[in-house]
Amino acid sequence: MDFELTPELAELQRTVRRLAQDKVAPRAREIDRTGEYPQDLFEVFRDAGLLGLCIPEAYGGSGAGILGLTIAIEEVAKHSNTAALMLLLTRLPTGPVMIAGSEEQKQRYLPGIAAGISRAAFGLSEPQAGSDVAGMRTRAVPDPDRPGGWILSGTKCWMSGVREADWYTVFAKTGDPASRAHDAITAFIVERSWPGVSVGRTDRKMGVRGVDTGELLLDEVRVPPENVIGEVGGFRLAMLGLNAMRPIVAARGIGLAEGALMYATRYVKDPVGDREVRRRDRGGSPPDLPGGLAGRPRQVHEGVGAVPLHGQVPRHRARRPGLGARGPAARRSRLHGGPPHRAVVPGRPAAHHRGGHQPGPAGPHRPGGPGRRPLVGLIRRRPKGPVQ
Ligand SMILES: Cc1cc2nc3c(=O)[nH]c(=O)nc-3n(C[C@H](O)[C@H](O)[C@H](O)COP(=O)(O)OP(=O)(O)OC[C@H]3O[C@@H](n4cnc5c(N)ncnc54)[C@H](O)[C@@H]3O)c2cc1C
Repeated sequence: MDFELTPELAELQRTVRRLAQDKVAPRAREIDRTGEYPQDLFEVFRDAGLLGLCIPEAYGGSGAGILGLTIAIEEVAKHSNTAALMLLLTRLPTGPVMIAGSEEQKQRYLPGIAAGISRAAFGLSEPQAGSDVAGMRTRAVPDPDRPGGWILSGTKCWMSGVREADWYTVFAKTGDPASRAHDAITAFIVERSWPGVSVGRTDRKMGVRGVDTGELLLDEVRVPPENVIGEVGGFRLAMLGLNAMRPIVAARGIGLAEGALMYATRYVKDPVGDREVRRRDRGGSPPDLPGGLAGRPRQVHEGVGAVPLHGQVPRHRARRPGLGARGPAARRSRLHGGPPHRAVVPGRPAAHHRGGHQPGPAGPHRPGGPGRRPLVGLIRRRPKGPVQ
């Protein structure tokens, strides 16, 4: 199997890498701090044509497909998981429309996403039905006033981008609400502006701030027949849509991990330069690791491999005066959970031993002293006797 990118995709990767370094990296910290939706980055993505990567050319996209989108998301996620989510949301809600939607639905809803004129979100999960999709309670009953139409009621939750979206792909039970049959679930396109549609509570998140995750409330929302996606009975459609998302979600995770490694590498190699870069652009762009995914093991071997992977640098050694409290050993130790960066004055205990921190059973740490005992040593010294 050939894993080489085509020239077009390689060019896409280079372009998005540059764009992410120039535009996304300097904004990442601020987005996480304020939690505000980064409209400026949405516009950057729009102008660069990234919002239509996964949308076919016939509907205004570039037709780069899932692979094109994963490449872009990996590059963006190196700097901001939130910005990567913005790209992901061009596929999650549009997937069912592309897979099973009518020609009219594709013409009506896809070009707006590709052009950055509209946004969409995906509503499958419910408070009591996460993995258990068949347990959903959002209900669709036939509209008595409109043949083929439906009336939707229920609450969707954890919906990414719920506040910014103009339309939603929503799954509801069209059959018996208690039924777990696959043909009891159907997908609909619901527009934000319709009566009965509102956004409920949004979640307070530890990360990926900037794109909301929250509830979509549906209160007797009338959905016309032309907004039913595919056949009535769409459990399989939900699964097909999610399956196509798996590499995209994985690309986000890989990009995030690559970014962490790049930032850590830059810091360990050159902390002063690293501080300068961060001061300059409040987020900075780490030097890229050449070679892509395939080159990673080699980089770890040649460069980052110099960093002990399990914090083997003894902490007392890293902090000891003369052995470089600010030196590479201290930085490596800190990278793997060592103490915070702090100058050590000879003859004076480290600041965190003067207050607050309670020394462990191995006794207080003194420069040159025994230091924190390794776990292995403690186990060996455990007194013999009956197990309590
Ligand atoms: C930040 C964020 C954004 C999200 N965005 C969206 C979105 O845009 N749209 C959307 O629809 N949803 C979204 N979700 C929901 C998400 O995709 C999952 O569906 C949901 O988190 C899983 O449901 P749960 O948390 O109730 O976990 P549960 O379903 O309760 O599962 C908990 C654990 O039990 C395991 N488990 C569940 N069932 C079984 C079983 N039968 N056998 C063995 N193990 C089992 C699961 O693997 C999991 O480890 C989002 C979630 C988060 C956290």
